[in-house]
Order: sequence, then C-alpha cells, then structure tokens
Amino acid sequence: MGESVIPLTDLRTRATPARVPAVPIPATGLLSDRLGRPLRDLRISVTDRCNFRCSYCMPKEVFDRDYRFLPQSSLLSFEEITRVARLFVAHGVVKLRLTGGEPLLRKGLEVLVQQLAALRTPQGEPLDITLTTNGTLLARKAVALREAGLKRVTVSLDALDDDIFRRMNDVDFPVADVLAGIDAALAAGLAPIKINMVVKRGTNDHEIVPLARHVRERFGPGAVLRFIEYMDVGATNGWRLDEVLPSAELRARLHAAFPLEPLPAAAPGETAERWRYADGGGEVGFISSVTQAFCGDCNRARLSTEGQLFLCLFATRGHDLRSLLRGGASDADIASAIGLAWQERSDRYSELRGSGTAEAGSGERRVEMHYIGG
Ligand code: SAM
Ligand code: SF4
Ligand code: SF4
Repeated sequence: MGESVIPLTDLRTRATPARVPAVPIPATGLLSDRLGRPLRDLRISVTDRCNFRCSYCMPKEVFDRDYRFLPQSSLLSFEEITRVARLFVAHGVVKLRLTGGEPLLRKGLEVLVQQLAALRTPQGEPLDITLTTNGTLLARKAVALREAGLKRVTVSLDALDDDIFRRMNDVDFPVADVLAGIDAALAAGLAPIKINMVVKRGTNDHEIVPLARHVRERFGPGAVLRFIEYMDVGATNGWRLDEVLPSAELRARLHAAFPLEPLPAAAPGETAERWRYADGGGEVGFISSVTQAFCGDCNRARLSTEGQLFLCLFATRGHDLRSLLRGGASDADIASAIGLAWQERSDRYSELRGSGTAEAGSGERRVEMHYIGG
C-alpha cells in the first residue's frame, strides 16, 4: 500500500510553538474565540497506542509493526496533564474527557483520574470527568476507575455480531468481552454509559437495529446508544462519502423498528442530537458531524499525547504547550498562551467541508484522531 507509507511522524512535529502574549490573558472563565464560542470541554489523549486497528481510525496497513509510536519521554506525565488541565479549568473548562488511542492502555490511569478529580472550578464545583474506551480492559479496571473519581464512561461498540465486530476491530477481538466490560462498568456505578457506534454504510449498517435492541434489553436506560457518522478524520482511513450513512436515514430505519421522539439538548455544545424511544425504552443519540455540522457552538479543545493543543478535530497544526511546561514557564504564561490560542480560534471545519474554501483544506495533512483524542 505505497500511498499509505507517509511520514506520519511529521504530523506530530509540525507544532506551532505556543505563543505567550506580551500582555497577559488572565483566566477569567470568560474566554471567547473569534466566533464567540466559549471554552468548556477539554479532551486529553493519554496515549497514541491502541490494541485495536479499526479501519476508520488506525488502519492496519499504516499502523503496522514498523509504525513508530511516541516514546515514553514524549508523553505528558500525569503531573503535567493535571497542571495543564487546572489552567484550562481556570479558563472555564468544566468537562474533561480522557481518550486516545486506547486510554486504558496507559499504565496507572486511575492515578491521573484521582488527580483530575481533585480539581475544582473557580466556583468550587467538581468537574465532569469521563473516559472514552474500546472497552477491552474495562472489566478489569472499572472499579478502580470509579473509586478514583471517574463519573461516567463512553464505550465504543460498532456491532453486536461477533464476526462483524472482529472484522471492524481488525485484531479478532470478541464482542462478548466488550459487553462484559459494559456490565462491569454499570455494576461499578459508572452510569449512565454512552455506547458509541460508528456506522459505515455497507460494513455495519445492518447492525443498527440488532445493537439497539440488545442495548435496550441488556442495559436498559442505564445505557445510551449513540450513532456516529463515519468522519473524514486524519489522513489515512481512505474516507469516502458514499460510506457515510446520514443520521436522518439511520434514524428512519431505527424509528421503523422502535418509534422515536425528539428530546431537547441537555447542554450547549453537545455533539449528539438526543431522541428517546416512545415506549420508554431509554434514549439514543445521533452525532452528525458530516451531514449536520455542529461547529456553531463547539466549545471543545484537545490536548495531544505529547502536549500539543488542538482547536479542532480536523486541525493540521497544534500549539506546543509541552515546550512551555518543560521550559520553566509560569502558570500565568501557560494560561496566557492557552488564552491567546483560543481567542484566535476560528475553526469550523465541518461547516466548511466540501465547500472548497481555503479554510476547509489548507493542503496540509490533518492530524490523526488517535493522537489528538477522539
Ligand atoms: N480507543 C477509544 C475508543 O475507541 O473508544 C478512544 C479513542 S477513539 C479515537 C474515540 C472515538 O472516536 C471512538 O468512539 C471512535 O469510534 C471514534 N472514531 C474514530 N475514528 C472515527 C471516524 N473516522 N469517524 C467517526 N468516529 C470515529
Ligand atoms: Fe483504537 Fe479507538 Fe481508534 Fe478503534 S477508534 S483504533 S479502538 S483508538
Ligand atoms: Fe468543533 Fe472542529 Fe468539529 Fe467543528 S469540525 S465541531 S470546530 S471540532
């Protein structure tokens, strides 16, 4: 696969040094970007490694035995992550999501959860701390994570059928183990659980109704199944528009099996459109990044595994915070650098997708999702 042999490592070194402005930008919690959007949600990638090779995220042909993942020394330490998170919280972040790669592969993750759980908003409130995982290690770790202060988890699950599931994770991992992980998480009190299904037309779209039925019957209202449109993230997944199943079509298919009713959004900036089963069987969500962009109130920032700040899932460049962290910068300087980056943000890739504008495609390769965190 000649075309896939691309210098992916270059993606990770093309960081823009984070700029510390001459006039400090104090953390007031009132930060706003160029489009008037506040900063509320920080996603933290704790590892670029994963034990799955989902073709839409880390295709095996690219992320093979020769692929060089980040060395341990490049990764932000738990203390560095907590320091940066604290500064983001001072700027208004109220929600932290640990992700990756597969976050549960990061050794001792519960220690990081404990450190983050001790943070408070300027109003003295605890943060909403959650984690997105493929669920493979959840059965083993759910209790420790809950005890460390994790509130909720999101588990990715693309099929109920074992053959299809094994094909999609591309490492022959059985679906039963992920379902057992969800059971363990619910038993540990990590509820409600969100279950994310990325839908690819022709690959797993016939699994929509069986998975919905199973989630309703097995987990009840303790789990919310969310359908994600297959996105053109990164530069390696060979994305094609004809493999995207628009949420409207998906919802119609689900509605035919289980009638649905719309629900109001729970919070501004929420990615999923919420619906509920008319028979009281619980809630479902639709994340329609491709057919119904939600950039207008996007309040999410991402911190990469090695400490680069990304302002959009489809960004091509990050702002290097690690150099500041390791170069002796003060909290005030780092907070100012974060503030400046956010104030200058105008990203709205999903709204511009396909419009052919310069902003939608700068010609540079987009950074990979497992590196900046989903
Ligand atoms: N490994 C963890 C997992 O799979 O849950 C966390 C990281 S993963 C990058 C985060 C989320 O991104 C998952 O729910 C995954 O399904 C989703 N994702 C990855 N690539 C995607 C794509 N091309 N389109 C839509 N969602 C994608
Ligand atoms: Fe791994 Fe998650 Fe990406 Fe799948 S989606 S390859 S589980 S990081
Ligand atoms: Fe936010 Fe970028 Fe996604 Fe738009 S495309 S919702 S700006 S992350």
